[in-house]
Formats: sequence, structure tokens, C-alpha cells
Amino acid sequence: MTMLKYTPVSEVEPTYKQLSNTFHSGATLPLAYRRKQLLQLARMIQDNIEAWEAAIFSDLAKPKQEVAMAELGPVVSSALLAADKLEEWNEPVRPEVEAWRSSWDTTIYTVPKGVCLIISPWNYPYIISLCPLVGAIAAGCAVILKPSELAPATAQIFADLIPKYLDPNAYAVVNGAVAETSALLNLKWNHIMYTGGIRVGRIIAAAAAKNVTPVTLELGGKSPVFVDVDNTDIEIAAKRILFGKQQNSGQLCVSPDYALVPRHKKAEFIAALEKAYKAFYPDGPLAPTSHIGKIINPSHHARLSWMLKNTKGKIVIGGQIEGDKRIAPTVVDDVPLDDVLMEDELFGPILPIVPVDDVEHALRIIRERSYPLVLYCFTENEDVRQKFVTRTNSGTVTFNDTYSQLAVHEIPFGGQGDSGYGTWNGKYSFDIFAHKRGSTNVPIAADPDMGLRYPPYSDESYNV
Ligand code: NAD
Repeated sequence: MTMLKYTPVSEVEPTYKQLSNTFHSGATLPLAYRRKQLLQLARMIQDNIEAWEAAIFSDLAKPKQEVAMAELGPVVSSALLAADKLEEWNEPVRPEVEAWRSSWDTTIYTVPKGVCLIISPWNYPYIISLCPLVGAIAAGCAVILKPSELAPATAQIFADLIPKYLDPNAYAVVNGAVAETSALLNLKWNHIMYTGGIRVGRIIAAAAAKNVTPVTLELGGKSPVFVDVDNTDIEIAAKRILFGKQQNSGQLCVSPDYALVPRHKKAEFIAALEKAYKAFYPDGPLAPTSHIGKIINPSHHARLSWMLKNTKGKIVIGGQIEGDKRIAPTVVDDVPLDDVLMEDELFGPILPIVPVDDVEHALRIIRERSYPLVLYCFTENEDVRQKFVTRTNSGTVTFNDTYSQLAVHEIPFGGQGDSGYGTWNGKYSFDIFAHKRGSTNVPIAADPDMGLRYPPYSDESYNV
């Protein structure tokens, strides 16, 4: 296991001051500067692919293909998109104004918020650290990135490569755990973006509130998937649900957490899951050919293993547990709503199946629980789709697939309620770090038309 070099707490404030000085010097403002940094960020990935892959393999045993598809590929495309759109996104906007103010010069400027903090988790360390960084660079901010100490190899590679590729006076990495993060939170930021669990999310929001600092909280939660068995292709639904569940061994904020399946075709759905399972892992789920990664650490492994031993449901697929590292993707049938598997976000490769009577029953269960990050629904029926859009709440809603909403840069990604607030992805990542600054310039020459507003007032002027 890689030893992560923690940043001395004594260096935190000087680093922040250096970044503040850079920001206030105006160095990060020119679009040519921002474009260069964005292209350098893309180059930092491309020049070091093997090192990035090795680091994340060391932390999570994540297969190369998953890293390319879900981590490094989207970071490079986001950086290139932002470099391409810099002028458009930063262009001042002249809104249409009422006729009587037509001689005023009214403008909405897009300006950088300033010196920002990005705190990221261990599960998708590259995309969740670097896509927000892309947005912040494009907006013209200076940034400290605080990666998760639970993924030490990836946290170390950030510290090693970012200063080599990006301007070290404007972008820095602070590594460490609670002491180092607390030192960061004592400083006054212009924006904090935090991705992780709700417990720490509350700590971040409370610290930010002391300085009235705006915050984006990207949290997790139990994201349900409803299978409208009479209006979908059950085999494709099962394959796509299993795909989303087993990515990164279920350690994915948008993992389909549990499945709501109408009873009358539940057996058919489980048979379809079995078929997909055999196709995904022909040599068995924990064979070297299966590409199942590991659970991040022994305590998370113990938490998941304990739940599998204590569930009231019936394990119908998988269930194998290897030492304190891997767990086979596992399907548990007939899980009651008060089961251990239904308490918190699972964040592991376990799919509970909760039997329901029909779509209304599924909607009731969803509405009675906290707002999830994502709601998944497999149906070809437009009425059912509209019921999910209009009668439930969640950060996003995705039909007929799992996970792919993140690939669509044109839609915002973020939570609602307990799954957080604020959104990122594509231009939305830029918007987090940009302030919309309204401005109007009232021409001196317009003064003769403004006599009415100046005292002294009279009944005559009031009645005009
Ligand atoms: P984590 O334990 O790595 O914590 C996240 C960050 O918080 C780290 O940088 C860590 O150093 C910092 N931190 C930990 N304790 C702290 C404290 N006491 N004070 C200040 N900072 C502290 O990650 P995690 O919370 O295990 O992440 C998993 C969670 O993140 C899951 O709930 C998952 O759903 C969620 N998540 C959400 C998204 C999203 O986009 N909405 C993406 C990925 C993960």
C-alpha cells in the first residue's frame, strides 16, 4: 500500500496565501492562461496514463477499462470542452431591458468567484477531483484540491503531478485527513465544493456557514431502481442494472442501491440477472478474469459482510466473500423495508430486491424515504415515466439504463435534499465557480430624463 505524504498543517495557510496573492494579481484572468492550464491538465492525464492506472489499481483494483471509461476519459473530454467553450461561457451578456432604460448600459458579467476549495472522496478520485477543477480553472479561480486519504496512491499522484503540469502559484494539492482538512476549513474561501458522505457534508457546511461561504454538497444516498416488468425488456433491464451495480464493486454514488420489482414477474427478473451474471463472469465472480475490484478497506468490507450475514432476505446470486478485500456481486431476494440492507446507502456490490405490488406501491416506497441522488426506472410506458418525473424527487432521473446520465455533459448532475445541493458536469461545473455579476451604467447624459426621482417631491410629480 502506498504511503501518502501528508501536507504539514503549518504549510496550509501559507499555500492559501500564495494562491490568494496569485488570484488577486489577476494572473488567472486571461482566457489564454486558462486555456493553457486546461490543455495542460488534459496532457497531464495523457502523458501519464500508466501511472494513473497503477495508482487506482493499487487503491481499488479498478480495471483499466473502467478507469478509461469512467475516470480519465471524461476528465480529458471535459478539459477539452471547457478549453473550446471558454469565450462563450465567459462572454458578458446584455439582457433585454425595458424601453425606458434602453440608454443604460446593462450587462451581466461572468467573473471568477476567487480562491476555492475542492474536497473529494476515494471512490472515483480522478473524475470527482478533476472535473470540478476543470470548471474552476475555466472560471478563472485559484484552487486547493484536497483528495481523500482513503485512496492514498491516487492522492499521492495528484500531489506529484499537478504541480508539474499546472501553475503551482494558482493550483495546489493538500493531502491529509481530519487535521489537515480542518486547517483548510478554518480559512475563508470563496467557494467550497465537497463530495462525500452526509456526515462530513454537515461538518463542511457548518464550517462554511461561519464565513458565509457558498458550498456545493455532492452527497450519496439510496438510489432505487424500479423495473416496470410489463413494459420493458426484462433481460436488458437486468443486464443494465447488474452493470451499474458491479461498477467499482458497487462503490459508486449513482449505483442502483435496491430494486423495486413487481411480484408477478420477480422470478423472471432474477432469472435474467442470473443469465447476465453468467455472461459477465463466465469463470465465476471472483476468478482473475472477472475484473471485480476490491472494497476500499477492511472496515467497509466488514460492514458489508456483516449485512450479508444479518439480512432477513435470501441470497439468490453471488454471496462469496474473499478475505477482507473482495465481495462477489450479490443479489438478495425478498428484502423487507426494515432490513439492515435498507437502512443506509450500501456502497457495495449487493443488490436487494424489494417486491412490490405495482407502480403505485413503488412510488409510495420511494416517496416515504429520503430524496435519492438518482432515480432509475426501466419502462417504455410514457405515463409511468411521467409519474416518476412529476411525483417523486431525486437529483436526477434516468430511464432504461443505470449510470449513463453522467456521460451526458449537457445535463446537470447533483443531489436534492439529503443527497446534497448544487450541480456539476460540463458547463454546470464552470457555473459553480463563476459569479454572475449584474452591472448597469447609467449615462450622465440621461440625467435630464430623471428629474422626477429627485426631491423635493410634490403631489404634482407623484401624479405624473
Ligand atoms: P471520504 O471518507 O473519503 O471523505 C470525503 C472527504 O472528506 C475526504 O477528502 C476526507 O478527507 C474528508 N473528511 C473526512 N472526515 C472529515 C472530517 N471529520 N472533517 C473534514 N473533512 C473530512 O469519502 P466518503 O464520505 O466515504 O465517500 C463516500 C460517499 O460519497 C458516499 O456516500 C457516496 O455516495 C458519496 N459520493 C457522492 C458523489 C456525488 O457526486 N454526489 C460522488 C462520489 C461519492
